[in-house]
Amino acid sequence: MDFLPKDISLYAEEHTTSESEVLARLNRETHSKIMQPRMLSGHIQGRTLSMFSHMIRPGRILEIGTYTGYSALCLAEGLAEDGKLITLDINEELEAFTRSFFADSGLDSKIDYRIGNAIEIIPDLEEVFDIVFIDADKLNYHNYYHLVFDKVRTGGYIISDNVLWSGKVTQIEEGKKVDKDTQAILDFNKMCHEDSRTENVLLPIRDGLLISRKL
Ligand code: SAH
Ligand code: CA
Repeated sequence: MDFLPKDISLYAEEHTTSESEVLARLNRETHSKIMQPRMLSGHIQGRTLSMFSHMIRPGRILEIGTYTGYSALCLAEGLAEDGKLITLDINEELEAFTRSFFADSGLDSKIDYRIGNAIEIIPDLEEVFDIVFIDADKLNYHNYYHLVFDKVRTGGYIISDNVLWSGKVTQIEEGKKVDKDTQAILDFNKMCHEDSRTENVLLPIRDGLLISRKL
């Protein structure tokens, strides 16, 4: 779903730096070869994540939900010289495809891509993160948030994707049943908003990015 009028979206895209050759190819091939290509962050969100990362110059990034690696590559662009991005995905079927793009990106040595269930992997991570990007299954967003919180440095960021959930978060009708994913996002957004340990901005970019800065 587009939250912006078509002409405004187009104009914004036209005045945003283009994707690199590798990202453009990853975008195209994900759309032609992989199921559910809508999950890929895409041009504007990708450039936004890259811009944030350049602003923060993180030493350590954790991404929960790699998919085909598009957002991982965008976030990795802004890493500090000796920086590292750990990205987690449960779907082993995407591994070969995704690794081949990491290899072509020039950022491969900075990316630690692990296949497995993030819920099981995160407790064993010993890093302190400057950015955590939450973008896996929506039902577990609150679990990811609580699991990573103490691993984020003070002044670090938790960025949570799809928090507008195609606009469903504002389309609640009385007496109508809310589906599980929408309810999970509603509960998550409320919990983040009420968390006095962070300062938040919900950016209505693409499907909604919730930026939380740890105080
Ligand atoms: N960040 C990507 C899109 C991620 S799509 C981008 O912006 O381009 C969500 C991904 O989360 C899927 O690839 C799915 O396999 C993964 N996922 C779902 N549940 C998971 C879990 N429990 N642990 C790790 N990854 C999970
Ligand atoms: Ca997403």
